[in-house]
Amino acid sequence: MKLADEPISLVETAFNGHYAGDLDVRVADEVYDPYLEGLIEQILVRLGEDPQREGLRRTPLRVAKALDFLTSGYTTSVADVVNNAIFAESSEEMIIVKDIEFYSLCEHHMLPFFGKAHIGYLPKGKVIGLSKVARIVDVFARRLQVQERLTNQIADALVEILEPQGVAVVLEASHFCMMMRGVQKQNSMTVTSAMRGLFRRDARTRSEFLELLRR
Ligand code: ZN
Repeated sequence: MKLADEPISLVETAFNGHYAGDLDVRVADEVYDPYLEGLIEQILVRLGEDPQREGLRRTPLRVAKALDFLTSGYTTSVADVVNNAIFAESSEEMIIVKDIEFYSLCEHHMLPFFGKAHIGYLPKGKVIGLSKVARIVDVFARRLQVQERLTNQIADALVEILEPQGVAVVLEASHFCMMMRGVQKQNSMTVTSAMRGLFRRDARTRSEFLELLRR
């Protein structure tokens, strides 16, 4: 998102007897999302900070860009990232993609939670490019989330696009809202799982998957 039609340049004014730092506007002509940047500036003031001091002057801009990226999943669809990378395949053996790194924001505190996703499925005529599995994880991770919903959304998306015999998703994550505040359990790991189709119905399929994750 780029909202600047006319970049504001105060370089001339700054040489005109003013220090740029005295002015109420940024010298840098870059404007990304003025409304969001204004809100972040207000947060800084409310926290007792001076948004005009050197280290913070571009912070609203940076935070706006970072938040935009970290929530880009709202404007990305699974169909876009999969981009037809689904192939016909007659094998019906279990496919597992382990240790997919993900980073998300908890919707309760807007603090990061991050970890690894492990995904398995039993195809029924269709397989997906392995890198696309990670892209699908990102579509849902880059939103305000709770880990349980993230897990379910990944599983449901895979069911929808692959129509497989089954899908299994396991997420292991550390939550900054637990590590930095509150209970301060630095080493606790939250594990969630979503089982669909055969992985839900058939205990042997499920334990085969879980066994393969341990290797
Ligand atoms: Zn939280």
